[in-house]
Amino acid sequence: MDNIKIEIMSLNDLKEYDFKKTDATVYFLKLFEHQRIANKNEIRLDKIQKKSSILQENILEYAMLQKKDDMSFLKFYSDFSKIPNDEYFFMFVGDFQWSAELKLKEIIDLEKLNGQETVDMDSVLEPIQDILKNYSIVKLNLSKKIRIGRKRKEDRICRFCKKSMKDGALFTNEAHAISEALGNKKIILNEECDTCNSYFDKEIERHLIGYLDFIRTLYKVPNKSNKVPNLRGKNYEFRNSNDGTQLIIYNRDHLKRVNEKKDRIILENHETVVPQNVYKSLVKFALSIIDSKYLVEFQKSIDWIRGQSEVERVPKIAMAVGKNNQTTQPDLVVYIRRNNCMNLPYAIGEFKFLTITFIFIIPTFKSEECDFLNECDFNHIWDCFKHYGPIESLRMMDFSSNNKQKNNFELNIANNKI
Ligand SMILES: [Zn+2]
Repeated sequence: MDNIKIEIMSLNDLKEYDFKKTDATVYFLKLFEHQRIANKNEIRLDKIQKKSSILQENILEYAMLQKKDDMSFLKFYSDFSKIPNDEYFFMFVGDFQWSAELKLKEIIDLEKLNGQETVDMDSVLEPIQDILKNYSIVKLNLSKKIRIGRKRKEDRICRFCKKSMKDGALFTNEAHAISEALGNKKIILNEECDTCNSYFDKEIERHLIGYLDFIRTLYKVPNKSNKVPNLRGKNYEFRNSNDGTQLIIYNRDHLKRVNEKKDRIILENHETVVPQNVYKSLVKFALSIIDSKYLVEFQKSIDWIRGQSEVERVPKIAMAVGKNNQTTQPDLVVYIRRNNCMNLPYAIGEFKFLTITFIFIIPTFKSEECDFLNECDFNHIWDCFKHYGPIESLRMMDFSSNNKQKNNFELNIANNKI
């Protein structure tokens, strides 16, 4: 059965609801301002709605009547009652993917409708005008569970190997668009077959997860089994206790001191990391969340992350580290160029994990596109993406190597600071 998706935008909130497509839902929606469609037993909801105490009472009455069969109306009521009386709100019907620009525009319209002094749209958009001029922005709402792609397994085609069940692909496992070990429980990719899922898991994503091991443990990000991880390296153990305390035990005899003052030490790990696979993981996440219509542009990138082709060098990744932009869930934004401005990359990803932001180019490996292997070509990017701030705050890191590298952490033990 299909569902009816409704979004309610009020001054304080944007909430989404998934109602079953039943007569009860249609009756429920008729409580709101609507137009009848001539000759059809259908209605079209007005976008502009006004909250009133009568509407609230009607909704409650109906929700109570239906609660035995369907609790979703009661849940709706509990949110709805929080909107103040006489406030205008917007109602959107359908599967809505908000672009940042569109959402901002609607919020400003709603504020105006409610008589609020609002900022001029142009002044809000000024710092990001160059991005909006050149790029479409893909950003997922991370507060709800999202399944990307067709629901029925028989209808699915794997984004990466292009196989369907008819070609022998299986879709038994739930594939996460972003690794579950990085805290993503919500973004599921229906269009990833079991073979690709297992390949990415074993061959590439574990390198990014390993690279982020220390920070995952430090910020207690639950792993796949929903447990806060502990770490054990060659010369140390990092324990997270049930009572919330954290303990790093290191073996003094096997410590390498970095400097004379002996306040920086190296924690050595057993596992190694292949830097280029860290890069591939980020690209895999980005290719998982973009609209499938763009995939045709990334065929060479897909071959590369699947290990079907090899690349010697990849563009550097710009990394920003700071406590200010700490996110509790991994956050991913993808920018896709919408013009032929060839001094900008076709696609850029911005992956935030706790205190780290990775800004990476999603290479298309097309000859007509700039390859950005030369660091000074990045200046065009920084001119466009002004919100990243001064370039000095970014560290340019080379993840080109295809060889296993030690994955050690440097620890500052002066003042117990890490
Ligand atoms: Zn596949």
